[in-house]
Amino acid sequence: MGRADAGDKTRRQFLKSAVLSSVGLAAGRIRGFSAPVDAPSKPLALVKQGVSTYSIGVSETASPSEKHAAAELQKFVEEMSGARLPIVTEAEKPEGNLVLVGNSTLVEPFASKISFEKLGPEGFVLRTVGNRVLIVGGRQRGTLYGVYTFLEKLGCRWFTRDLSVIPKKPTLVIEPLDELQRPAFEYREPFFTEASDKDWAARNKVNGSSMDLDESTGGKFIYYPFVHTFYQILPAEKYFGEHPEYYALVDGQRRSDNAQLCLTNPNVLRLTINKVLEWIEQHPEASIYSVSQNDCEGWCECDGCRRVEQEEGGAHSGPILRFVNAVALEVAKQHPDKLIDTLAYWYSEPPPLHARPLPNVRIRLCPIGACEAHPYEDCKDDAYFMNHLRAWSKITNQLYIWHYVTNFSHYLLPFPDFDELAADIPMYGKNGVVGIFLEGDFADGGGGENAELRSYVMARLLWNPSLEVDRIIDEFVAAYYGKAARPMRAYFDLLHRQVRPAPHGRGQHMWIYTNPGASYLSQDFIAQARKLFQQAETAATDDAARTRVHKARLSIDYVRLLHARAFEVRDGSYVPADLEGLKENFQSFMKDVRSFGITELHEGSKLSEDEEDFSNRIKPYHVVTLENTLMRVDVAPELSGRVIRMIERRTGHDLLRRADPGERSYPDVGGLSVSVNPDYLGRAYEATWELEAQTVPTELRLTGTYTNGLKATRVIRLRKDEPVLHTETTLENHGDTAQDVVLQSRCVVGPRNMEESRISFRRQDGRTTKQRLIEAGQEPRGAETYDGPEQPDGEWMLSEVGPSLALVNRFPKDQVSRCFARWTGKTDNSLTLGIWSAKRHLAPGETLKLEADYGIRRTIS
Ligand SMILES: [Zn+2]
Ligand SMILES: [Zn+2]
Repeated sequence: MGRADAGDKTRRQFLKSAVLSSVGLAAGRIRGFSAPVDAPSKPLALVKQGVSTYSIGVSETASPSEKHAAAELQKFVEEMSGARLPIVTEAEKPEGNLVLVGNSTLVEPFASKISFEKLGPEGFVLRTVGNRVLIVGGRQRGTLYGVYTFLEKLGCRWFTRDLSVIPKKPTLVIEPLDELQRPAFEYREPFFTEASDKDWAARNKVNGSSMDLDESTGGKFIYYPFVHTFYQILPAEKYFGEHPEYYALVDGQRRSDNAQLCLTNPNVLRLTINKVLEWIEQHPEASIYSVSQNDCEGWCECDGCRRVEQEEGGAHSGPILRFVNAVALEVAKQHPDKLIDTLAYWYSEPPPLHARPLPNVRIRLCPIGACEAHPYEDCKDDAYFMNHLRAWSKITNQLYIWHYVTNFSHYLLPFPDFDELAADIPMYGKNGVVGIFLEGDFADGGGGENAELRSYVMARLLWNPSLEVDRIIDEFVAAYYGKAARPMRAYFDLLHRQVRPAPHGRGQHMWIYTNPGASYLSQDFIAQARKLFQQAETAATDDAARTRVHKARLSIDYVRLLHARAFEVRDGSYVPADLEGLKENFQSFMKDVRSFGITELHEGSKLSEDEEDFSNRIKPYHVVTLENTLMRVDVAPELSGRVIRMIERRTGHDLLRRADPGERSYPDVGGLSVSVNPDYLGRAYEATWELEAQTVPTELRLTGTYTNGLKATRVIRLRKDEPVLHTETTLENHGDTAQDVVLQSRCVVGPRNMEESRISFRRQDGRTTKQRLIEAGQEPRGAETYDGPEQPDGEWMLSEVGPSLALVNRFPKDQVSRCFARWTGKTDNSLTLGIWSAKRHLAPGETLKLEADYGIRRTIS
């Protein structure tokens, strides 16, 4: 984008022609239809020097959107030319020059030339015949979309809610027209606050559930409920007490929190069918009803559900799809026109082996783990998703996509995904997708990074994926930033070059939860971006453009602010380099953010929470350093008793991963720490940690006090003349009731090279495990739990933690009931090694102990 690059152009041209032919064939769609039988060769003068001889002809029985279409045509033609065309109905038997809007008896003489059967509810025909202009489309929204397309041809643009470009033209000449358009996707929803405005949405031909579209704009595509509905179908407070068997069996227990339903229980099916029928009765306006998994893991592991999974090739989507099909089959008997929605998301992304979605079922496939910097077909980290997409599109012609178009941890973070969008919306079309939801920042105040530009570009591509995206961006940027357009476009291109593959860019990948420490947001990039913003601010001559430049600059201000939060160890303290400066910048940044009406910086959290978080967490923490000849270890007692650095003295290498200052609850994250949990899945209990007096330079002792009467004593000690840190935690129940407890000790490291790194150990059954972290063609992340005979026999090791350095975790095997590892190679490498103590129902006065050694081993001398 924004570069004259022959290789890339060729690829896009190829994509475009592929899209046109495959979409056209697969869905019976016709774009750029041209069969001029007696199309006039003469242009028509709609308005001459502000005077028009034309009327707008509509039917007496026009639909609300057709009436609105005529009014919109009248309004914008007048705004352009000064001429107000009268609106007349067929009853007035108008003669002479007419623009016919919507089907009516006035259209009859030309009806044989309009393929009404091809229009559907949203398609339209634009034709000039003799002295007539025909704008005739499907009654629901087709004619309205035809009018907007006609006006676009005259130069009208509706860029944002507040910015339209309606050219002043006292003379309007219509070139001969003969075309039929239909949308490439039946469902089109850019999910941004900025895209929800009724007029903006209608004028840009999007029809999503979140938009304020009403009868006058032909309604919209309505979901009820929207998503993640399992607990809405069977509320735990209503059923769990008497029927725990309706809920997922997870890790040996039925759970009604943070889990799913048991999808092979016949009563769950019966109750779900009843619930959906009830929804249809209460919300007849909806066209699609969602029976979809909750937003977490926790699928059912009962024998029935497992059997279905096995029959379906091990896919978790198997039980889901069979269940949803059974619901859809019953619903169709009473409501053949209603659709049932479900997700292929997270654990259910791979399709089942045998089950096939019924015709009234829509699958929303969600590429939640994909790299968003690169076209999915070109990025190795997205190969896994392309496999899922192709497999789903083989088994359904009704596939929908839930695509992600922002960073959900940081709505303002620069998010260079326009190369990806420009390629992947057409790519979806080519793979038989018929509906697309593009999830962005839908907070009350909106203001997500590039929300306006993004919404505009997405809306246009959803209607016609073969458009040239660069031109759309140029047009938008020119209108939106005025005299500042050139540096703003340069900033946009600079940002995209950070991720564009070599030789055109730096080729870095990017995900929807990427933190600001990501290397595409380098210091060098920030410096260049700041220069361009300075140029833009100088160039902007009007208030509107200046304000927009200032708002766009928030993205760079935000990254700088988060970079400045990075803590470092200095003089016995763990603290950001310039704490006072940071506080000032934070306050002025928040003031700016509020001045733009922005209400959220991260998905689902208010600005006041950011402020609270900042004042609670961003402050100096006392650090205790332990040292022997081989190792130096820094502990921050107030940060949950965490070890924050573990340095091999010979190389100076810190084995622990440096947390990103953009992470949630930073700096109380990562490192080496211990927690007390009710079981393997529940949330850790809250504790306050305190340092006891330190008596020797190689050892310290901490006490943790829990609100439920538990008390932990933790000893952290460097072993004499060994590069090994010994930790020992003893939990005692000081309360008067028994508590379910299990201790977890974990260590977060940053492997140097995820491809080379291996987890290896001898198992309790004597066999050996060697676990690779990254598999070709898979997402670059993973998780494993090892228990029973597969559990490490008292020791396990991770190689390549540092240069020729391995981390060895040793523990008394009779104290440990389970080991786990989880890792990701996205943005920066991170791997957590964790061990669980025995699980106990701890009576008052009883204790539970967990010891663990963390040592460094040189792999090459
Ligand atoms: Zn089950
Ligand atoms: Zn990538």
